[in-house]
Amino acid sequence: AYVIGLPCVDIKDRSCIDECPVDCIYEGRRALYIHPDECVDCGACEPVCPVDAIYFQDDLPDEWGDDHAASNAAFFEG
Ligand code: SF4
Repeated sequence: AYVIGLPCVDIKDRSCIDECPVDCIYEGRRALYIHPDECVDCGACEPVCPVDAIYFQDDLPDEWGDDHAASNAAFFEG
C-alpha cells in the first residue's frame, strides 16, 4: 500500500482524496491516512501531494518509518 508520512501533519491539503479511485484516504485529527487494506497501489495520489508526503510503503524515508507506522495503525484501530 501507499502511505502518507510526516509532511502531511497539520497540512492536510486533501488533493490526494480527490484523486483516489477507491476512496481509501481518511482524515485524522492532524494528518490524512491511507487504509492499508483498501489501497489498490494505483499511485494516483503520490504526484498530487504538494508536500511530497506520499510514498509506496517500501520507499518511505527511514526517519519517518516507525512513528508513522504507529500512528497509522492507531488511526485504523480506532
Ligand atoms: Fe488511493 Fe491509489 Fe493512492 Fe492507494 S495509491 S491511496 S488507491 S490513490
